[in-house]
Amino acid sequence: MSADATRCGHVALLGRPNVGKSTLLNAMLDFHLSIVGPKPQTTRHRILGIVTEPRGQILFLDTPGLHRGARKAMNRSLNRAARQALDEAELVVQVVEAGHWDDEDEAVWAAIEQHECPRLLAVNKVDALADKTRLLPFAQRLSETHGFDEVHYISARRGEGLDGLRAGILARLPQREPMFDADEMTDRSERFLVAERIREQLMMRLQQELPYATTVEVESFSDRDDGLTEIGAVIWVERAGQKGIVIGAGGKQLKAIGSAARRTIEALLDRRVHLRLWVKVREGWSDDEASLQRFGYGAGGDLERDPGPGTRDP
Ligand code: GDP
Ligand code: MG
Repeated sequence: MSADATRCGHVALLGRPNVGKSTLLNAMLDFHLSIVGPKPQTTRHRILGIVTEPRGQILFLDTPGLHRGARKAMNRSLNRAARQALDEAELVVQVVEAGHWDDEDEAVWAAIEQHECPRLLAVNKVDALADKTRLLPFAQRLSETHGFDEVHYISARRGEGLDGLRAGILARLPQREPMFDADEMTDRSERFLVAERIREQLMMRLQQELPYATTVEVESFSDRDDGLTEIGAVIWVERAGQKGIVIGAGGKQLKAIGSAARRTIEALLDRRVHLRLWVKVREGWSDDEASLQRFGYGAGGDLERDPGPGTRDP
């Protein structure tokens, strides 16, 4: 094979929660595919994002943050999704925050170290580091003590350093023909992406333990003749007392969640949307394996139930 043969392979984005893995995925795609936010559990699934360019195709796997001491069923499911992506990966990018390496980062590296493949370090959020002179010694120390093949300094938020990272990834991927069509961006369905946009609003607007007690299930999705898409979704909570908080006084909170979600869903689908939300209780769902399966957090994540891109109710 020639040196400039097309490259293609799976690249897992791994790291502790909140380092910017999903922001990086979106920046690479130039599309808001994976939801982003300052709270852990913003990403709960392994999400495929496909970047196609003349040099080849990068199959990014965004993952929930790997973390230790996962006692609850949901936390075990998050770790499982991240480990599954690691198993599939032909290259791993560990994402860290500039100037910060702690026990959780170390635990992520310990998992990566077990997996035989090229390992790149992406030092993210360089824009937020006040003292840039700390950057080089920080990365140098990490490279000496950990076997990274390459280090990249990036700001996923500002889109800086991404060309270099992309080139570094492509150069180390197997020589192989693209596995997806050039216009495909993910293997996730519109239904899944819509549920995520609603969950994004819940993550942003709910406080304390509530974001972690909620999940979203899209129940109906249909295009009307007049160009409007009607979507019905259930917000599941764990306890009866949480229902009232999500709805809010006079239904205000739910209304705000609904109209913000509708706007981002309209941008996602490029169609006008009528969104109806219900709040229902499923006692202790996040610590119950059967409920997790039902809500798409099974061993294979949503992919097992997902009917495929663009598939909707008739
Ligand atoms: P993940 O949990 O690793 O997927 O992290 P997210 O992508 O959800 O991002 C976590 C938080 O870090 C969000 O508030 C992002 O806006 C923020 N963030 C991500 N990348 C950058 C960056 O390059 N610079 C700065 N300053 N913040 C970032
Ligand atoms: Mg994420």
